[in-house]
Amino acid sequence: MAAKEVLIWPDANLSKTSIAIEVIDESVHALVADLIATMEYEGSSAGLAAPQIGIHKRLFIVDIPPQDNNGNGTNGPEAFINPEFILKEGRLHWEEGCMSIPHERGWVTRSSRVIMRYLDLNGVQQEREAFDYLAGCFQHEADHLDGKLWVDYQSPLKRNLVRKKMLKLKK
Ligand SMILES: [Zn+2]
Repeated sequence: MAAKEVLIWPDANLSKTSIAIEVIDESVHALVADLIATMEYEGSSAGLAAPQIGIHKRLFIVDIPPQDNNGNGTNGPEAFINPEFILKEGRLHWEEGCMSIPHERGWVTRSSRVIMRYLDLNGVQQEREAFDYLAGCFQHEADHLDGKLWVDYQSPLKRNLVRKKMLKLKK
């Protein structure tokens, strides 16, 4: 288990669609360990998706203490495999950040309540209801699996501005 380098937008790898995980083997467990190590090393973030470290598999981790979201959180860092939303309702308009877009934030409209179906690390299908902060995080992380980031919801002007800042940061 090792902290990996987090790709910074506009790295083209962040815009690729990830592939469903068919078998939950050692490599998937190792990937989860790497994602957790990376998130812990970087601090601050609530979630990290596999494509952010260059692995195009449909998996992300989220770590939101329940006390941070009115009792609705995760049990430590949890892995969500092949997630899909079977319910989305309500409106959450909030400001998002992303480990792949350091120091920047942008307003995004999400659903305020979701039910997400996914596989856990034992390959068991689960359904998780989430609201507010946790629901928003699930949608943000799931977007990564489709090659989408919060900048993709911004005006061309804002997107360009952020792009310039990121290119400067990478130099
Ligand atoms: Zn992100």
